[in-house]
Amino acid sequence: PRLANQIAAGEVVERPASVLKELVENALDAGARRVDVEVEQGGARLIRVRDDGVGIPEAELPLALSRHATSKIATLDDLEAVGSLAFRGEALASISSVSRLTLTSRTVEQEAASRVEVEGRDMDARVSPAAHPVGTTVEVRDLFFNTPARRKFLRTEKTEFGHVEEVLRRQALGRFDTGFTLRHNQKVVHSLRPAETELDHERRIGSLCGQKFIDNAVVIDAEATGLRLRGWVALPTFSRSQADLQYFFVNGRVIRDRLVAHAVRQAYRDVLYNNRHPAFVLYLELDPANVDVNVHPTKHEVRFRDGRLVHDFIFRTLHRALADVRP
Ligand code: ADP
Ligand code: MG
Repeated sequence: PRLANQIAAGEVVERPASVLKELVENALDAGARRVDVEVEQGGARLIRVRDDGVGIPEAELPLALSRHATSKIATLDDLEAVGSLAFRGEALASISSVSRLTLTSRTVEQEAASRVEVEGRDMDARVSPAAHPVGTTVEVRDLFFNTPARRKFLRTEKTEFGHVEEVLRRQALGRFDTGFTLRHNQKVVHSLRPAETELDHERRIGSLCGQKFIDNAVVIDAEATGLRLRGWVALPTFSRSQADLQYFFVNGRVIRDRLVAHAVRQAYRDVLYNNRHPAFVLYLELDPANVDVNVHPTKHEVRFRDGRLVHDFIFRTLHRALADVRP
């Protein structure tokens, strides 16, 4: 079983950023309104995620670290919402098999918190009392300490931290109602309170995507035939030298989709005669019955029931918004 765990770990745990993704998703699943992330050395030395979610009952702590430990599929509806069983309940087990992992948690019913620690293949979880407010902290130290071959594949601290920041950026762009902080080597990189007002939203976008993006963006907000598109699209006055700034969320989930990319690019070119990659943060909402989201952990694909309708809606909305502000 130990070997099986380590093999499975390869599917989920590629680098510090993939650990962070799983931990933040768990925190959000637990209803957290606040997620504090701390990493050291790009995450190779430490990844710590603290949340104020519902916590894990003491008796279930060791269980949370065993394979297929999910507490999240109770009904057939859940199963459909999740889409695939294959990767449920694997994350913590996989991560703990290639790191030194500590899980500290307290539920509202408990007077004190408890902690469970595991170190790599040593799967005998030790449970001890601890101090912690209601919620959970997961601490992952020395990732791949027992799999040197994989540790060798880690890139520089800067590169790994770049991936870590990207994971947090996506999560924070998708959940305005939740506060996030990110610290690297004791320095605050992002501090985002829950966003309520329009101004809060723009502040968050400014912090995550750069003030220049928000200063040079058109606000999008349109609705038609059961579709709603909101967000920001940059004007050509925004020039970005780094990687693409392209985020598209469908019902709160970040996706990459050719049909969507095509609609955006076409509107952009049509109006602005501009061949550069557009920069955007967009949110599409539609009836979940009209979209099939593939939840494979490494893919972010969607299939729309009526792709043409979606394409035309995105194209026309952006076309109109951009044409309005064309100099
Ligand atoms: P999954 O998320 O697919 O259920 P994980 O291995 O990520 O599997 O987590 C296993 C279980 O541990 C979860 O189902 C949940 O019950 C519990 N758990 C993990 N992280 C948290 C957290 N931050 N808050 C509350 N419960 C958690
Ligand atoms: Mg999980």
